[in-house]
Amino acid sequence: MEYSIGIDIGGTKIAAGIVSKNGNVLTKKVFSTPQETRDSIIQLLENIIFTLTETAAIEGKKLIGIGIGTAGQIDFERGKVLSGTANIKDWNDVPLREILSKKTDLPVYIENDVNVLALAEQQFGAGQHVKDLICLALGTGVGGGIISGGNMIRGAWGGGAELGHITVDMNGPVCNCGFKGCLETYASGTGIARMMKEELKAYGAIEGNSEFLYYQKHPEEVTSQLVFELMRAGNELAMKVVETSINALSYAIVSFIHTFNPTQIVLGGGVLQDGEWFIQRVREQVSTMGIRSLVNPVEIKMTQLGNEAGLIGAAIQPWVYGGKTEEIHQ
Ligand SMILES: [Zn+2]
Repeated sequence: MEYSIGIDIGGTKIAAGIVSKNGNVLTKKVFSTPQETRDSIIQLLENIIFTLTETAAIEGKKLIGIGIGTAGQIDFERGKVLSGTANIKDWNDVPLREILSKKTDLPVYIENDVNVLALAEQQFGAGQHVKDLICLALGTGVGGGIISGGNMIRGAWGGGAELGHITVDMNGPVCNCGFKGCLETYASGTGIARMMKEELKAYGAIEGNSEFLYYQKHPEEVTSQLVFELMRAGNELAMKVVETSINALSYAIVSFIHTFNPTQIVLGGGVLQDGEWFIQRVREQVSTMGIRSLVNPVEIKMTQLGNEAGLIGAAIQPWVYGGKTEEIHQ
């Protein structure tokens, strides 16, 4: 059996582990993402690689590579983080592969975090044996990964598939990215909380509704999780916000279907705590829109690998990108 080191770099935590070629996570460690400088993150990554390489050697496990998944726009060929994410401080213009390759003899792969999520789901999760799938991660932001004809679609240097930043309303709010009315401003946790705050503000003071009054005074306490809780309790503003979110997501999904002709859409991320209900509403909406021949056959599913998907996807890069995909399933 062959193994690799997988590292999943997120805004709040970094998960790392030794993963077998068939996707089993053997050793897993989770660290807080250093918030100081890029050097503190790089130092941590070097320590992780050193420790896990030692562990593998002691246990007699043969490592064939290191796979990293990170938020941001990644120059895949050069293994470089070009522009990072607001969630990771100082994480841009980092020649990560070059830096880490000085500390290890193993091949190092650097990929976007949602691309590795798509990879994991395609190999071991919702999309097994599917060659054309689109993965959307609805979290603090909205990330996308596109596998078409069995290949990861990255564009010229790797920055493509920013599916959270296609516009669903050209008159919509300005997004973090500078564009307007992006899907992310409606379908991310941050976007859902923003819409709820705006609804509360516009609602005015309603006598007798202490819940509304409380959150009007404390908008900083409004999170997407709260919006879903209020919705379940029958709160009409929360229902309106969640429906707007589902609507925006559905329009975007139909546009992706028209563009890429996928057979499967896989949805994941923290916003989907209430997954099945949410996805069922998206299915209903999507089924009423767009070009029938394209839209009708598409399966919309939830991610299946849970919170280890990013780690597993990062770790299987040495096989998938090393041209040894078929070995994974032997
Ligand atoms: Zn945007």
